[in-house]
Amino acid sequence: MTAPRPVDLALRARWILPMEPGCVLDDHALVVDEGRIVDLLPAADLSARFAPREHATFARHVLMPGLVNAHTHAAMTLLRGIADDVPLDAWLRDHIWPRESAFVTPEFVHDGATLAAVEMLRGGITCCSDMYFYPDAAAQAFDAAGLRAVIGLPVLDFPTPYASDADDYLRVGLAARDALKHLPRLTWMLAPHAPYTVGDAAFARIVTYARQLDLPIQTHLQETRAELDEALARTGETELARLDRLGATGPNFVAIHAVHLGAGDRERLATQRCSVVHCPASNMKLASGIAPVAGLVAQGIDVALGTDGAASNNRLDLFAEMRLAALLAKVATGDAAALPAAAVLHMATLGGARVLSLEASIGSLVPGKQADVVAVDLGEIDDAPVYDPISHLVHVASRERVSDVWVAGERVVRDRVPVRVDVPALAARTRLWQQKLR
Ligand SMILES: [Zn+2]
Repeated sequence: MTAPRPVDLALRARWILPMEPGCVLDDHALVVDEGRIVDLLPAADLSARFAPREHATFARHVLMPGLVNAHTHAAMTLLRGIADDVPLDAWLRDHIWPRESAFVTPEFVHDGATLAAVEMLRGGITCCSDMYFYPDAAAQAFDAAGLRAVIGLPVLDFPTPYASDADDYLRVGLAARDALKHLPRLTWMLAPHAPYTVGDAAFARIVTYARQLDLPIQTHLQETRAELDEALARTGETELARLDRLGATGPNFVAIHAVHLGAGDRERLATQRCSVVHCPASNMKLASGIAPVAGLVAQGIDVALGTDGAASNNRLDLFAEMRLAALLAKVATGDAAALPAAAVLHMATLGGARVLSLEASIGSLVPGKQADVVAVDLGEIDDAPVYDPISHLVHVASRERVSDVWVAGERVVRDRVPVRVDVPALAARTRLWQQKLR
């Protein structure tokens, strides 16, 4: 008999939900070494095979892959709750854009992204996809907090303090990527804001860069009925048809929101193997509509979940999004079987990883993948009884039940406390921003 193999970490739990396969494992242990998962085995077999340097037991928890927030604007967490109860166009024009042009600096983005990173990590989100000005400042904030992130390089056709025109946005964005692409928890994508703010010439250049650099493209798409109607009136085609004509669609194309889709656009998304990010809370709060998610999933389209920015949500809470997605799909289709809990959990984990082109490294607890892991306590009296932990994660648990979080095998939240961020100092900086932004 060989001696037990020394490893960095073993996590034993009441339940483990690896996502691949989708079943729940009772009293198993997850073994981690050098940031990666090396095994998942019955807890009784652990000591014979492994000698972990650190060992933790979660007797009333479920261990699951870290949640993937596939769309946010992290820095906008500083604008949380600043303007509620207004539709998208007025919300942007009267409340968000004026404050952004007056206040958005690298310091704003760094502090807002740090605030968002703390909220997301404490809520079990280990990876986000972000889209905002000064992406280098957000990237450094996420990296410092320990969060994994896909950094969107924003593109607009109009000037802001960050850049002057589409070429300038691409130039400064790609320079930020060049400066930071050594950071292992970060990947990069091109993030044209929306078809109505980025013209054909700029989209054509984005497509060229995406192909040359093998970068995904994600953009807000057909979020409101008015947006779609204006596109049809102006160009005679839907936004998606236009982007298809410009060569933007394909397996590397991610449509955010995709609330208003006719049959032609759904077919286009499916045949081009595009993905969709569903942001139910933001769509409900801005009264944008209900994305046809159950139908998209039935057509084989990959769908992830996103919170959107805290300014239109007002929380970065994927537990809330999971429950809303499940309930909305049922009420929208009149079918109680639409989007069962396992399908929603898939969207928030492995499905999200796939949409962000990270499926090979995260999204499930299988040997070889990064150890991005969340422990969720299902042992409180208001959780009882627990017949099915998957159902509980979607319909019962809240993010406050997340106790511990690991990214690449590093515990970045310990008993609800972020390990790498000075939270009192962050709170003080946030109060200063609140005084300025009010
Ligand atoms: Zn958004």
